[in-house]
Amino acid sequence: MTNSVPSSQAQIKPAAFRRTIDGYQVDLYVLKNSNGLAANITNYGGIVVSLQVPDKNGELGDVVLGYDNLNDYLGSNPYFGALIGRYGNRIAKGRFTIDGVEYQLAQNDGVNTLHGGRKGFDKVVWQTEELDTPDGPALKLTYTSKDGEENYPGTLHCAVTYTLTNKNELKIEYVAETDKPTLVNLTHHSYFNLKDGGAGDILGHELMIKAGKFTPVDAGLIPTGELRPVAGTPFDFNTPTAIGARLASKDEQMQPGKGYDHNWVLDRQGKGLELVAAVYEPNSGRFMEVLTTEPGLQFYCGSFLDGTNRGKGGAIYQQRTGLCLETQHFPDSPNHPDFPTTKLRPGEQYTQTTVYRFSTR
Ligand code: BGC
Repeated sequence: MTNSVPSSQAQIKPAAFRRTIDGYQVDLYVLKNSNGLAANITNYGGIVVSLQVPDKNGELGDVVLGYDNLNDYLGSNPYFGALIGRYGNRIAKGRFTIDGVEYQLAQNDGVNTLHGGRKGFDKVVWQTEELDTPDGPALKLTYTSKDGEENYPGTLHCAVTYTLTNKNELKIEYVAETDKPTLVNLTHHSYFNLKDGGAGDILGHELMIKAGKFTPVDAGLIPTGELRPVAGTPFDFNTPTAIGARLASKDEQMQPGKGYDHNWVLDRQGKGLELVAAVYEPNSGRFMEVLTTEPGLQFYCGSFLDGTNRGKGGAIYQQRTGLCLETQHFPDSPNHPDFPTTKLRPGEQYTQTTVYRFSTR
């Protein structure tokens, strides 16, 4: 697949992001670390607009899909680079019960709820604080989701800090607190393409996921509840494997999401920050490691991208030109008591940390 303008050459202009939305100022923030890596982030949706990292020759290139102006993010947009909340991924029929009370969310993905509902955290304006930390430049984003927003109970105070560390990592730290029992499952939705930022496909990217099991899904991409061993299936990424290598498999689990769009049950040693996945792109030599404190990883291979999104510099994002590695709790956990809980109660603190670490080989 080819494309007219590689997004790595796109120019991102802050003025194209300056606007008042819901009474709040939206802007574009630039984090640049001591090695010249740069991240452009807007406080609309906490979206990572671009991420410039070096290839094996030291050439910087943009490795995420997205738009070069705010207006395009306001239109039809498959969550490019955004923060996702209150609940990442799907909740079956948008229904859940807490302490005997049933809640109904907006059904924005067929009969199910996806990525928070109609107006999730990807579509709100976050307050900002620019920080200079010992690790590198950071942008702290805060947002208070009102009791009843999108029908979730409880006022939820959220803080998400992006740090572009001097060790060439994009670190994302999440904290949330509530005043009533509620659900929280926050994640980040960058579409990565380490080769060319989305001009071509991601089929040659070699992926490793440390997981002996995954959660199979029904036709609506809702987990059936089974934790299925990956051994002997196209879902075994314990040994690094090209994403395209097994996409033609007849495995019934390859049908619902036209390939990979599943949650992996990560093999973890404990509850701390651990390496759980890695991606290597042989042409550029770029290597990205994923570390997280979360129990699950949604690997989505971008099969629903269909060329209708005209991105940075006019790039047309065709099917499978970006891949998402969303660290999170399992989809539809509220309706699967056996899955790690996503409930948060007053007095408790939700925390999660994820690091995307870049190097070359
Ligand atoms: C989901 C996909 C969905 C995509 C964009 C991913 O997190 O797993 O099913 O199409 O987000 O909306």
